[in-house]
Amino acid sequence: MRRHNRTTLLRLLHVGGPSTRATLATQLGLNRSTIKTLVDGLAEAGVVEEKVPRPGRGAGRPSLLVLPQPHAAVVLAVDLQVEHVAIALVGLGGQILGRNSWNLRGRMGQPDEVITHIIESTTILAGDLDVTPVAAGVSVPGVIRRADGYVHEAPNLRWTDVALGERLGSVLQIPILVGNDAEFGAVAEHLRGAARGASDVVYISADVGVGGGVIAEGSALRGGSGYVGEIGHMVIRPDGRPCYCGSSGCWETEVGEAALCRALGLPEDTPRGAILFELPRAGP
Ligand SMILES: [Zn+2]
Repeated sequence: MRRHNRTTLLRLLHVGGPSTRATLATQLGLNRSTIKTLVDGLAEAGVVEEKVPRPGRGAGRPSLLVLPQPHAAVVLAVDLQVEHVAIALVGLGGQILGRNSWNLRGRMGQPDEVITHIIESTTILAGDLDVTPVAAGVSVPGVIRRADGYVHEAPNLRWTDVALGERLGSVLQIPILVGNDAEFGAVAEHLRGAARGASDVVYISADVGVGGGVIAEGSALRGGSGYVGEIGHMVIRPDGRPCYCGSSGCWETEVGEAALCRALGLPEDTPRGAILFELPRAGP
């Protein structure tokens, strides 16, 4: 029971930010002395800190705020995109302690090099910050087997059958959670972004490819095979261009980055910056 309460309390602080004991007591449905015991225990362990908030205009003694301590638990976040990779070390409470990113242009399609770079950058960043991540989340624009982070295919990265989770885990020696970018995007917006508090969410990522993530009644929806978000391959123009998936006129091939390039009269592999530069000149 105590362990359950502690987990719930930490989750509230991690996602919701600093809070008073009184608010936490209400949210958890616990009495004040139980909350005090929980918070005191966590403070002793260095996981939270209690602070007097900046004085407000109201009369009376302000309630102490319970703050999550970012360095108490640090995770690695990896965002693998078609044109670049970003890594970040994120502390308890969601604070980004440090980040690094690099361009992938011309080097996609080379998983070995990308994986090595992720590992090296993480080691350097963690050393600089003097932290040790306890787990990692890796976002990939592709179809992923969640159990072990195996990338079945990430067409726009030109990756097929890459044991990404296993390879990162064997070197970094921490649990690795690999997932589809749009699926993770939906979870992120639901937890901390535009869809906070909503029970049903559809998230659409439009990049080189088009993908989607769905939250239904508060939980992320995942098909048995991980194809639930493959809305980019919904046929919107039956007589449209052939798509790499074998179909024709998929949403992705009709509106994705390559389609934008064609509409602007640019080569299909034009860098993002050049597309953005050309867009306003093309007019409405
Ligand atoms: Zn398709």
